[in-house]
Amino acid sequence: MTVHANYVDGRWIAGSDAIANINPSNVDDVVGHYAHADARLAREAVLAAHHAQASWGLSSPMQRSRPLQAVARGLETRIEEIALLLSREEGKTLGEARGEIQRAAEIFSYYAGETLRQAGGLHDSVRHGVTVEVTREPIGVVALITPWNVPLAIPAWKVAPALAYGNCVVLKPSEVAPGSAWLLSEIIAAAGFPPGVFNLVMGTGAELGRALLDAPELAGVSFTGSVPTGRSIADAAISGYKKLQLEMGGKNALVVLNDADLDLAVECALDGAFLATGQRCTASSRLIVTKGIYGRFVDEMNRRMSALRVGDALDNQTQIGPVASRAQFERDLHYIALARSEGGTVTGGEPLKRDHEGFFLSPCLVTDLGNNARVCREEIFGPVACVIAVNDYEEALATANDTQFGLSSGIVTTSLKHASHFRRHSQAGLVMVNMSTSGVDFHVPFGGRKSSSYGSREQGQHAAEFFTTTKTSYIRA
Ligand code: NAD
Repeated sequence: MTVHANYVDGRWIAGSDAIANINPSNVDDVVGHYAHADARLAREAVLAAHHAQASWGLSSPMQRSRPLQAVARGLETRIEEIALLLSREEGKTLGEARGEIQRAAEIFSYYAGETLRQAGGLHDSVRHGVTVEVTREPIGVVALITPWNVPLAIPAWKVAPALAYGNCVVLKPSEVAPGSAWLLSEIIAAAGFPPGVFNLVMGTGAELGRALLDAPELAGVSFTGSVPTGRSIADAAISGYKKLQLEMGGKNALVVLNDADLDLAVECALDGAFLATGQRCTASSRLIVTKGIYGRFVDEMNRRMSALRVGDALDNQTQIGPVASRAQFERDLHYIALARSEGGTVTGGEPLKRDHEGFFLSPCLVTDLGNNARVCREEIFGPVACVIAVNDYEEALATANDTQFGLSSGIVTTSLKHASHFRRHSQAGLVMVNMSTSGVDFHVPFGGRKSSSYGSREQGQHAAEFFTTTKTSYIRA
């Protein structure tokens, strides 16, 4: 049995155990076995990164740019192989997987360029004859902890800026889908970074998270995942004075007003709620619809949903792949049952049989519940959306903001007045007008408000806020 190893200090290292990675389209298909690191190996990875940090932090922009470019090329060259693996381990369709890999390649390419665009500032001091220079320096060794739903692009959008800004990295991907991050690590290992600059440890969060966060050499942690995990990471990071960046859950609202183009509204809702099996932090899980269009919207949603093809992620005809894991499948079914017991009307949400045993679920629309129902307040993270009827725009906006989350929001309307007002008054970090709440660019800030995010934004040049720290120098000539 081949076991994909951890990568520490430039060497592939076996783990204390191995995790079988299961294909959610066919539970008899083992995608691969992935080494399970223990706390001792996590500690070694931090120490390797710490030793490498001294010279990597002082490396020239081109020393960082060239290997980042090589990673971008490696991803593009191997796109079909990685897409196959990503679809098999996470259940995204092949088209969605290719899109994710292309995006990861573009991110590495973007940050290869960013190494050359780091600017500082010069100021006249308030004291005569003194100049003040403000420069940015890397923060040091960072732990990057990532979830299963975007198993390649999220590691990419943390690793690329971390390395570009001169930090050394320990990546800890999700134990549910470690294969894509492992392939990324193989490409990084061949790209020409010095040993210790990039390290990969795989295994459970509870064991490795504690070991990473307890390490005195760790300067910061960037995490994407659920709110409860984020909270426990925050507690550990703050008590150890680590810099902290958290991207967490969502209960994103798409508002549809009476004056909306119905086809566009349904298109945005189907995309936001159900593509990628609804397993996107930016998924439209609350569809807030004014009463003048509500009936037509729900009818059209039901008609279009029943035509969506749910099936094996590797089948080119499939539009919606399986739920990614048994645990998530059971969670979705639990919330669908809860919707019924809360008095909701449920359409879809049925487990489906296909050629192989897998976690297939038909898209689910819940109606006849208010925003206070638990299924409208708690993140489900599956192909389940609630439609909430409201009287007018003002009630729609208030309902959209009435949530502990604040990642993404959207409005479908032909009214410039309402679109502009919504953009300004939505309490979310991302606001979409006549677009799905999901689907973002990589060169502009990404992140939310309230319980969805904590710390500075990811992506684009804003990533420098987390991965660098300023130094203010006073110089008397
Ligand atoms: P999760 O919180 O269960 O796990 C995320 C990562 O944290 C995994 O690598 C896991 O092993 C690790 N982990 C678990 N316990 C830990 C601990 N005590 N210490 C350190 N690490 C620990 O989340 P998940 O189920 O993998 O992902 C789904 C969640 O991610 C959803 O809530 C979703 O909204 C969120 N998400 C957010 C974004 C965003 O950008 N805001 C993007 C994608 C996913």
